[in-house]
Amino acid sequence: MLLIEADGKALFAAHGIAVPSGVVVTAADVIAPPADFGPWMVKAQVPIGGRGKAGGVRRCGSADAVADAVREMLGTRLKGHAVEACLIEQVVTGGERYLALMVDPANYGVRVIYLAEGGVEVEDGPGAGHIDLICAPEVHAIVAALDGLLAQEPAATRTHIAKVGRKLAEMLLLRELALAEINPLFVSDTDCVAGDAKVVVDLNAIERQPEIAALIAARPSIYLDANRKLQEGFDYVELDPKGEIGLVTTGAGLSMMLIDELTARRMKPLNFCDVRSGQLRGSPHRLIRVLEWITSRPTLRVVLVNIFAGITDLGEFAALLAAAVDASPGLRVPVVARLVGRGAEDARRILAEKRPDIAMEEDLRAALDRIAAVLA
Ligand code: GDP
Ligand code: MN
Repeated sequence: MLLIEADGKALFAAHGIAVPSGVVVTAADVIAPPADFGPWMVKAQVPIGGRGKAGGVRRCGSADAVADAVREMLGTRLKGHAVEACLIEQVVTGGERYLALMVDPANYGVRVIYLAEGGVEVEDGPGAGHIDLICAPEVHAIVAALDGLLAQEPAATRTHIAKVGRKLAEMLLLRELALAEINPLFVSDTDCVAGDAKVVVDLNAIERQPEIAALIAARPSIYLDANRKLQEGFDYVELDPKGEIGLVTTGAGLSMMLIDELTARRMKPLNFCDVRSGQLRGSPHRLIRVLEWITSRPTLRVVLVNIFAGITDLGEFAALLAAAVDASPGLRVPVVARLVGRGAEDARRILAEKRPDIAMEEDLRAALDRIAAVLA
């Protein structure tokens, strides 16, 4: 999961990598740019790259310009993400380099990427001057690999970059990150400053990473999906804030297939979901939670439950689904349940008894036709 720049830079600073002075603002009415530095950069804090090209990064020469930029950015959407925070930062100058360390599981190693020309263009894809190496996931191996990539770098800047590289390697391994990228890395003869931070954390390692857990917990709404996963123990990802079909599904592959089927029919799924139906343990809690999140969306028009039961017993699941719908008075749209596999006959009987308003289908196409009929 990608951290916002400000949080990535907090990790950089904790590992001794220099970052510009800055403050994060989250509300338009508290903008007083730090008086002890200027000019300022105003940068939208959304967890996605390429903000510069999309208008989310602006250089401001005056306090008024900072206030205008923050006011214009907050509350808008940038590349699909709501801008809820802006970073106001000291403008840095120097040559722009690109430095990234990326865990490369297929090669059992770490990919070290260095480019003498950083900036917004390089992220479009590796160009001709692109150089990288794969090495063992060890600090000394990463340092040695980077040393090879820095061969063309002048001696004066080379030592500074190598130092940043060592700290970045320590951070990557200690924090169990998937990616640590600095672009641009501002380089001068005296120092190196990280102009941007792209840090991808591994949520599977979060139990060993309390500092990262704290960063995520501190921003409940920017890291909404991650907080849901960490608190509830299952996956729910909002796909489209204007989606119409709320999904209650299990298994990542089946859920993605369903999203593809809906999208191919020009229908708008609201969310990805892996409720892990095999682990409900007799409690409708997760189903109630998902229905709560889904029903909070004003564009919701229908709920589609899709369970392909291998381990799950559909009789038990149907009883939990009925209980969850009972416990969700806010749910005012039809529910279509496509339940196929173990215990489907029990499920049909239980739903007919407890919630005859839930339409059950075993065939996926029949279920999708029902959805189409609701949307028509
Ligand atoms: P991204 O587009 O989301 O990767 O956002 P960046 O933080 O990388 O900003 C985009 C571009 O803005 C960078 O490549 C730089 O060229 C420029 N930029 C960002 N911060 C600074 C800064 O402090 N000083 C200067 N001179 N340029 C900056
Ligand atoms: Mn960048």
